[in-house]
Amino acid sequence: MAVVQVHPSDEKLDRYIHGRLGPPDSVPVLKIEEHLFRCTHCVLKAERSLEYGQSLREALSTLRHSWKTRPGTYVSPPSPDH
Ligand SMILES: [Zn+2]
Repeated sequence: MAVVQVHPSDEKLDRYIHGRLGPPDSVPVLKIEEHLFRCTHCVLKAERSLEYGQSLREALSTLRHSWKTRPGTYVSPPSPDH
């Protein structure tokens, strides 16, 4: 099978992201997933379209940042035999 070099259209990608392209095992979905598997460009594009994906990334980086800057915030649980 030849390598598909044509990027899916924004509309198609958008429909895939929102699960409107078809059932998970349908040909259009499998084709797009095969493309996304080797096309970072389209993965990034999809992630940008995914609002929650983007905010998840931001949340993760913010969390990591706050963990780094606030190392002493961990509160140990009170010992039962105090
Ligand atoms: Zn692509």
